Amino acid sequence: MKELIIIGGGLAGCEAAWQAARFGVKVVLFEMRPNRMTEVHKTPMLSELVCSNSLRSKEVITGPGLLKKELEVADSLIMKAANAAEVSAGSAFAVDRNIFSKFITQTIESHPNIRVIRKEIIDIPDTIAIIATGPLTSNAMANSIKSVIGDEHLYFYDAIAPIIDAESIDYSKVYLSSRYGKGGDDYVNCPMTRDEYNQFYDALIEADTVSAKDFEDLKVFEGCMPIEVMGKRGRNTLIFGPLKPVGLPDPLTGKTPYAVVQLRPENRQKTAYNMVGFQTRLKWPEQKRVFRMIPGLENAEFLRFGSIHRNTFINSPRHLNADLTLKEKNDIYIAGQITGVEGYIESTAMGLIAGINAAKRILGKEIVYPPRESAHGSLIAHITESDPENFQPSNINFGLLPAGEEVLKIRDKRVRRQRIAETAIKQWRKYIDKILAFII
Ligand SMILES: Cc1cc2nc3c(=O)[nH]c(=O)nc-3n(C[C@H](O)[C@H](O)[C@H](O)COP(=O)(O)OP(=O)(O)OC[C@H]3O[C@@H](n4cnc5c(N)ncnc54)[C@H](O)[C@@H]3O)c2cc1C
Repeated sequence: MKELIIIGGGLAGCEAAWQAARFGVKVVLFEMRPNRMTEVHKTPMLSELVCSNSLRSKEVITGPGLLKKELEVADSLIMKAANAAEVSAGSAFAVDRNIFSKFITQTIESHPNIRVIRKEIIDIPDTIAIIATGPLTSNAMANSIKSVIGDEHLYFYDAIAPIIDAESIDYSKVYLSSRYGKGGDDYVNCPMTRDEYNQFYDALIEADTVSAKDFEDLKVFEGCMPIEVMGKRGRNTLIFGPLKPVGLPDPLTGKTPYAVVQLRPENRQKTAYNMVGFQTRLKWPEQKRVFRMIPGLENAEFLRFGSIHRNTFINSPRHLNADLTLKEKNDIYIAGQITGVEGYIESTAMGLIAGINAAKRILGKEIVYPPRESAHGSLIAHITESDPENFQPSNINFGLLPAGEEVLKIRDKRVRRQRIAETAIKQWRKYIDKILAFII
C-alpha cells in the first residue's frame, strides 16, 4: 500500500495524519520545525497554537460550537487534545497550550502508523500527498504551489471586511438597490446625511487599531487598503471610494444621499451581509462602536469582524475540487488554513476531511462528501463554490449554513439556530457512520 505524505505538522496536518492512520494507512508527516522556524511559532511541538489559546464558543448554536461538536463526533485528535487541556473560561473553550500541543505531539509520534520527519519540503511531491503548510507556508513551498496554480492565485495577506447578521439590520433606515439599478435589489444601502457622515468619519480616523507586527509590515495595496487608512487621506476620500453615493438614489425620496455604506449578501438566503470596502485593522470593540454609528446598523451583530493580516492562501474556488484535491494536480490534497478557511478549528476541519479523503483514495474506496447541511460541508462550499473574483477566507459562522424556508420562518433566533444545528449534526453523524463502515 502507498504511504500518505503529509506536509506540515500543524492543526490540519496532525488531524489529517490521525484520521488517515485510523484507516490503517501508513503516514509520513513532514514538519520543518525546529530546523526551520516560522515568524511566529516558538516551539518544536506539533500543532502549536500561535496566538490565542481559545477555540472559541462551546455553544452549539454558534458556528465554532457546532464545528467542534462535529469534530468530536468524528473522533478528532485535536478535540481529544483540547478536552485534555481545557482551562475554565466561561462559555469559551480555552486550552492550556503546552498540554494541548504535548498531547498531540506524543500521540502522533507514538502512533504505529505515523512516521514524523523534521524536514522542510520544498517541492510538491509527485505522489498522493496533503499540503497543510498553513498561513506561514515556507517560501520554497509557496513557490512550488505557485508553479502549479500560477503566481496570481496564491495570496499572502487577508483583507477581510466585517460580516453582519441580516436580522440585526434596522430595515426602516436602509433601502435595497444596486448601483445604477444594475443587479436588482441585491445590496442593502445605508444612507448618511452630511452630519452623520462627519461624525462617523471623525470616530473612524481616531479609533484604536491593532498594531502591525514586524513580519506583517505589509505594503498596503489599493485593493485591500484598510478603510481607516483610506479615510486618513482626507475627509472626502471615502465619499469617492467605498461610501460613494452616485447611482444609489433613495427610492423613497428620489434623492442621492451624502454618503452610502453598501452591504453585499454573503449567501443566497441573504442571512448575512458583507460591509463592502470595510477591510480594517480597527480593534474589535472599536469596530462595534464605530460601525454601529452607520444608520441601520445601530444594533448590528457582527458574525465576523474585519482584519488584515499575514496569511498564505489559495484562490480555492478556482483551484480546489470538492474533495480538496488540486484541479491542476489531482494527487495533491490541500488542507488547513491555506485552503481559505480562518482559525484553529476551521483548519482542523479541513485537515480532517483531507485526511479521510486521501486515505480512502489510497485504499481504493469511494469518496463520500460531507453533507452540505453540516458545518464542515458549509466550509467546503465556501472555499470551493464562492465567486473566485471576490474570494476571501472565512471562519465558520451561521451565515454559511443553509436553512430551509420553514426554518427561516422561525422568529426566535436561538430556536432557529438550534434547528439548523440539529440538522447539521444529524446529517454529519450519518456521514461519519458511512466513513467508519470502511475502517479496516
Ligand atoms: C500571527 C497569527 C495569529 C493567529 N491567531 C489566531 C488565533 O488567535 N485564533 C485562531 O483560531 N487562529 C489564529 N491564527 C490562524 C492559525 O494560525 C490557523 O488557524 C491554524 O494554525 C492553521 O492551521 P494549519 O494547520 O493550517 O497551519 P499551522 O498550524 O500553521 O501548521 C502549518 C505547519 O506547517 C509547517 N510548515 C510550513 N511550511 C513547511 C514546509 N515547506 N515543509 C514542512 N513543514 C512546513 C509549519 O512549521 C507549521 O507547523 C493565527 C495565524 C497567525 C499567522
